[in-house]
Amino acid sequence: MIHNIAIDGPAGAGKSTIAKKVAKDLSCIYVDTGAMYRAMALYLIRQNVNRNDTVEIGTVCQNADISIEYQNGVQIVLLNGENVNDYLRTEEVGNMASVSSAVPEVRQKLLDLQRKLAASMSVVMDGRDIGTTILPDAEVKIYLTASSLTRAKRRFLELQEKGTDCELSEIQKDIEERDQRDMNRTVSPLKQAEDAVLVDSSDMTVDQVVARILEIYHSKIADGETADEN
Ligand code: C5P
Repeated sequence: MIHNIAIDGPAGAGKSTIAKKVAKDLSCIYVDTGAMYRAMALYLIRQNVNRNDTVEIGTVCQNADISIEYQNGVQIVLLNGENVNDYLRTEEVGNMASVSSAVPEVRQKLLDLQRKLAASMSVVMDGRDIGTTILPDAEVKIYLTASSLTRAKRRFLELQEKGTDCELSEIQKDIEERDQRDMNRTVSPLKQAEDAVLVDSSDMTVDQVVARILEIYHSKIADGETADEN
């Protein structure tokens, strides 16, 4: 029996860290949909597409073939056959992804890929519209959020660890702008699904958030049944 968990929320809420741990605990696959939008953004940047030209984005995105592979449980994003994982986590790519993901042609291209993955196996899928649009029938839906300052501080530490020079106030501004774009776009805006459980991680540790989500999962799915059992 396939059970899917949808985790949506704004940038920097900790979705990927949490989703990876929940997936490991439940022995299912973690699907990072943000990485798919980032791979598309990388393609558009490489093609020198004007980020304000939605018609150009809608046309050029048709030439990007994005697919997913798993190596030792790690998601590898392939862009026209090239493993692009190492290029996805920059602010430039994140900002372009937030702009290009508002273009309907981009969303349509990635929708099928995401639905097919979830139909073939139990997944913990994180993103912005998983509970509302991609997997409206997911057994468990979580809306994971935190204050914009908490999220900016997390991103700041992450970038510092990588040795990237950055300003906390700049990151917070970027995060707030991205929230605005993600929440106010016409197609699939970021919002809490009616049947999603709200988890605010501002004052919670990673382990506490994971424990809370597992508790929600076990309360929804019959005791004793694991994600991959028939
Ligand atoms: O989650 P992450 O920061 O990697 O996502 C990058 C951008 O991709 C987000 O700001 C958002 O605009 C977009 N995105 C989306 N729908 C998803 C996942 C990401 O629109 N399911």
